[in-house]
Amino acid sequence: MSQTIAKSNQTKRWQEMDAAHHLHPFTTHHQLAKTGARVITHAKGVYLYDSEGRKLIDGMAGLWCVQVGYGREELAEAGYKALKELPYYNAFFQTTNPYTAELSQKLSEVTPKGIDRFFFANSGSEGNDSAVKIIRYFWNLQKKPNKKIFIARKKAYHGVTIAAASLSGLTSMHPQADLPMPGFVHIDCPYWYGEGGDMSPDEFGLKTARALEEKILELGADNVAAFVAEPVQGAGGLIIPPATYWGEINRICKKYDILLHVDEVICGFGRTGNWFGSQTYGIEPDMINMAKGLSSGYQPIAAVGLGGRVGDVIFNSDEEWSHGFTYSGHPVACAVALANLEVMQKEHLVEKAGGSTGAYFQKKLAELGDHPLVGETRGVGLLGAIELVKNKATREKYPSELDVGYRCRVHCFDNGLVMRAIGDTMVLSPPLVISESEIDEIFYLARKCIDLIARDLG
Ligand code: PLP
Repeated sequence: MSQTIAKSNQTKRWQEMDAAHHLHPFTTHHQLAKTGARVITHAKGVYLYDSEGRKLIDGMAGLWCVQVGYGREELAEAGYKALKELPYYNAFFQTTNPYTAELSQKLSEVTPKGIDRFFFANSGSEGNDSAVKIIRYFWNLQKKPNKKIFIARKKAYHGVTIAAASLSGLTSMHPQADLPMPGFVHIDCPYWYGEGGDMSPDEFGLKTARALEEKILELGADNVAAFVAEPVQGAGGLIIPPATYWGEINRICKKYDILLHVDEVICGFGRTGNWFGSQTYGIEPDMINMAKGLSSGYQPIAAVGLGGRVGDVIFNSDEEWSHGFTYSGHPVACAVALANLEVMQKEHLVEKAGGSTGAYFQKKLAELGDHPLVGETRGVGLLGAIELVKNKATREKYPSELDVGYRCRVHCFDNGLVMRAIGDTMVLSPPLVISESEIDEIFYLARKCIDLIARDLG
């Protein structure tokens, strides 16, 4: 077990400093203090290395973001060049810089049809908070000030800032900060395996899409600003929408004049086999939010992309738009993002995720479905979920006190694999550069760890 490995003095020193002074994201700190944090010191390709010299294959591409793999010289060089030439300047006061201008142009080429103006932020959460402000402003300019309610979904994850956390439908995120804010409501999501009962996936897709229509009718379309959703729900458990879902959502948003804001923070940049999840699922967004794969996580950068309907109104307003960050369009982040997109294009990473690499990954994922503990495997492109259950026939889950997913994740770490646990659903989202032999390694280790947890459970 990782806890029993003798630790070097250097590792212990870092762990002690960390335990004393570092507040980690989403962590129970007194528990972490007992084991000490794992110290990752370097990474190359699809592999991470810790301070004890252990090698881990990163089945999660960091936090769903390192599309081009670790240690890419092209991105490092681009960042270094920008750091020397223009380490900082802002985009306020009628100013831009070559990197931000070029990145805006490049994004207009790869984002879904019609999305062609970009506001830059530093994180996916800030992007969604910015989107909420843009949408409120849009409806104010349209002289429809009552259209203010945001409809999002249960199990959605849109980030942690106040509005992004209010959009999120993971209820554990709300009570600590008295959220959601007023004006944010959540409807059921298309989680067929867990909630579809006897319905076919297609029937359930329609039912959950029509929950949006029911909510709009209940609230009054004149009061609803937007529907906000991820193409595939990521942190909520990798919920893949049934084929009927998104077409119906497009229809409903148009019928009731509700803006559709699509959160592409995970699905963007090739993850689902196209540049954006909206393209994979035929979604017709008015706006999108992107981050993570935009720079492969090498720099903190996010962008909100606006389609003509919203973008024209904001652009043509005589008022100054009162929003923007010190680091909006940061030259170094934009330079690295540009280099990242160039690598993705040169190496055809999106085509591979939607073609040979994605197909191989999905084949190996599906093979795990024969394991007695695996209720369902599901995936698209280079996203995969393995849902662990007590009873395959009835889909009965293990009691949550058993922490089956968490314990499986510990086995994974101990055996050299990073696989995330969301409840008892194990999730994979590897770098898009992954090779077939590295995919084999991931699934060999995944099966081994599921065997280990099966053994533990008796
Ligand atoms: N939206 C989605 C779909 C995400 O998955 C995330 C992060 O995982 C966010 C927004 C928030 O992004 P960040 O952590 O960069 O604020």
